[in-house]
Amino acid sequence: MRIAVLAGGVGGARFVQALTEVLPPSDVTVIANVGDDLEVHGLHVSPDLDTLLYTLAGFGDRERGWGRAGETWNALDTIERLGGETWFQLGDRDLGLHLVRTEALRRGEPLSSVTEKIARAVGLELALLPATDDRLRTRIRTPAGEFEFQEWFVARGHRDRADEVVYDGAGEAGPAPGVLEALEAAELIAIAPSNPFVSIGPILAIEGIRAAVERRRDRVVAVSPLIGGRAVKGPADAMFTSLAGGTGAGQVTDCYKGLIGALVLDVADADDAEAVSERGVRPLVTRTLMSEPDARAELVRTVLGLVPA
Ligand code: GDP
Ligand code: CA
Repeated sequence: MRIAVLAGGVGGARFVQALTEVLPPSDVTVIANVGDDLEVHGLHVSPDLDTLLYTLAGFGDRERGWGRAGETWNALDTIERLGGETWFQLGDRDLGLHLVRTEALRRGEPLSSVTEKIARAVGLELALLPATDDRLRTRIRTPAGEFEFQEWFVARGHRDRADEVVYDGAGEAGPAPGVLEALEAAELIAIAPSNPFVSIGPILAIEGIRAAVERRRDRVVAVSPLIGGRAVKGPADAMFTSLAGGTGAGQVTDCYKGLIGALVLDVADADDAEAVSERGVRPLVTRTLMSEPDARAELVRTVLGLVPA
């Protein structure tokens, strides 16, 4: 079954990994967020693409949730000793990838093309596409001012309340090559249990992508990133409170208004099923904690069950 997945980093990677335990990887196209991208020490870093790449290739650091397993930090130590900025940590192994990518981008190669080469080099069989090759940067407006995404998230530890999320450049950004084709060809489009505001929002802020998803709404299923109204990790629940007025599955549905036919919500949120159906979206209640193998299998069966075999 051909499936296209909109994904951020950690939640996205875990979900795609679960899918490929059941589907042949060649059936899967991942359309990834690049709103988190940043330049560090002159290097282009794409945190969500890299989390997907490392996790799916099997060398991601499971505990930390980002970066590579068995990482060393010699370069970072040197940077610190020399008085450079160290708030965004880059390991030695990780740095190698950023060097290759940055060099290619400087030569004028599009992000999608260098991503494809790197994915192939690490043995990925699925298609990993950045949502866009154009510059798109998420910014967060808070009572303390407006920050670039990583400055808000990493440097300030996402402590400042998010009052507004801005997708800088989204208006001019076009879908990367292959993205619209994958959305058209997919028998199922899944929105991973990624943060709707800062992981999925930037992807859907690209007009061509939003329109393509909207057209295929009946084939679109989103998985809620909230369990019992709480994020498994990260600021999603706090963002739901400040940006959507609550942490129920109804609010998750509202994030994808007009775009989804079904929403998978956790058994812990079963009471919210009615709020989902009231919004014209089919609620699918199952276990969604992906660290548990049984729940993971159940989640994938539920998502794939949406399309008759
Ligand atoms: P990031 O880009 O690395 O921050 O990652 P994502 O946006 O892709 O994923 C973060 C979201 O994934 C958080 O809101 C978590 O609540 C959610 N998440 C992580 N693990 C799980 C899980 O096992 N089940 C569900 N339902 N959500 C999860
Ligand atoms: Ca991210």
